[in-house]
Amino acid sequence: LTQGLDALRELPCETLDGHRLPLWVNTGLLADVARAQERGAEGVGLYRTEVPFMNNERFPSEKEQLAIYRDQLSAFYPLPVTMRTLDIGGDKSLSYFPIKESNPFLGWRGIRVTLDHPEIFLVQVRAMLKASEGLNNLRVLLPMISSIHELDEALHLIHRAWGEVRDEGTDVPMPPVGVMVEIPAAVYQTRELARLVDFLSVGSNDLTQYLLAVDRNNPRVADLYDYLHPAVLQALNKVVQDAHAEGKPVSICGEMAGDPSAAVLLMAMGFDSLSMNATNLPKVKWLLRQITLSKARELLDRLMAIDNPQVIHSTLQLALRNLG
Ligand code: PEP
Ligand code: MG
Repeated sequence: LTQGLDALRELPCETLDGHRLPLWVNTGLLADVARAQERGAEGVGLYRTEVPFMNNERFPSEKEQLAIYRDQLSAFYPLPVTMRTLDIGGDKSLSYFPIKESNPFLGWRGIRVTLDHPEIFLVQVRAMLKASEGLNNLRVLLPMISSIHELDEALHLIHRAWGEVRDEGTDVPMPPVGVMVEIPAAVYQTRELARLVDFLSVGSNDLTQYLLAVDRNNPRVADLYDYLHPAVLQALNKVVQDAHAEGKPVSICGEMAGDPSAAVLLMAMGFDSLSMNATNLPKVKWLLRQITLSKARELLDRLMAIDNPQVIHSTLQLALRNLG
């Protein structure tokens, strides 16, 4: 099977009825780059910039960040690389920037931290922009957006950073900017958010956790953590419809995108790309190449009419097994 999966590398992710769906990867370490390329990724849907920050003893300088980001961007050039601005807090902590809270997932996380510390944000965005000079394959993604106000502030800072690096002689266009839809509030504001950005990316790991009020890392409630829960499926479907109503592409970069059977449903919903761990990419591609988009849509319609999460799981598994 592994050999068969390797042969898939050069084949497009295309259904039997000719629907193309770009498969992207999530990266963090430089080691992820080789694996992604081995598996034929078509871009990076999520580069978690907190990884190099976590592997350091202090905030990396603008120059240090520039070198790290340049490596990512040039490794994938000319494919797009979506760099998420620092997403610390919650379960991701920096030893040199401790955050002590009794409820970290509902606390100071992601964009909340960087808007309170614009100096951290500006240095990071400046480094990204400089790293992209001459390559221009950078996309910037904002984590944990819960209101238009936060997005306005972040966009203002990105424009400021862009003006600064251009004044210093860096010749780089304004990159596409996107927001993560990973807080339920963003699901209900998808259209308003979409109007202000170039693309959206759903973070189904956090979105599942917040919709179901289930800690994504707590083994005691792990059986309640279910990205096929009907409420999650409804939310995902709504985000795709609303993004497209505003003419904006929408991707998904949570673990769910790397689950082949879930990927069938995400394709049927109309996601424009799926971004996953490189390990899962060949399995997802293999399955999507065995199915038609119209069959996937029929299956999605059937599942969306089911209200019991357990029945959703069994129906999906049975349908895909019957595929052969
Ligand atoms: C997510 O929340 O789905 C996501 C992709 O981001 P992270 O797992 O880094 O929070
Ligand atoms: Mg997240």
